[in-house]
Amino acid sequence: MKTAKSAAAGHPVTSAPAAPAAAHDHHAHHDAHEPSHAHGSPQEAALALAEEYCRERGEKLTPIRRKVLELLLNSGRATKAYSLLDEMRQIHPGSAPPTVYRALDFLLSAGLVHRIESINAFTVCHDLTQCQHGILVVCQECGSVTELHQPKLRQALVAQIEDAGYRLASDEIELKGLCSACQAAKAAGEAAPVAVAR
Ligand SMILES: [Zn+2]
Ligand SMILES: [Zn+2]
Repeated sequence: MKTAKSAAAGHPVTSAPAAPAAAHDHHAHHDAHEPSHAHGSPQEAALALAEEYCRERGEKLTPIRRKVLELLLNSGRATKAYSLLDEMRQIHPGSAPPTVYRALDFLLSAGLVHRIESINAFTVCHDLTQCQHGILVVCQECGSVTELHQPKLRQALVAQIEDAGYRLASDEIELKGLCSACQAAKAAGEAAPVAVAR
């Protein structure tokens, strides 16, 4: 199986905004008979992109893989594997843990999803099909994740790390943080607005 890295190396990638634009062009070829939801949610567009991306790589976004990706897209924040399993079981009551873990492994290796070590959870890559990973800032309170797209900053950081004789253990560069909503909640002395998905 090709890794996200080799795929990225295989074809020089353009800047991040190219993906949504390409998706839009693609939709432009459809005719007017499409149901109204076809242009619908960003989630649907993201899933369509992911599907195409997998196809180009000679891999399949199987229904289970697609569902796990969809659950992560809908969640909008880092989500624990067992929470994904709970949601899967509401749809497919017989879902076994390995099913979800295997789907997550695939999505990770394809570079569509990030593992967030600090809170042991998963989140969709913000740059779904370009594999230009940014720097992840993770709210330790609610699990919201922002992926900063600063290729120069990332390259400089990686160069410094390599100069120091190290190699990063994964594609993820993760910074622990507290999002603005959780900062406000803390300041107001309230509980966090949403706990990390349980
Ligand atoms: Zn990413
Ligand atoms: Zn937060």
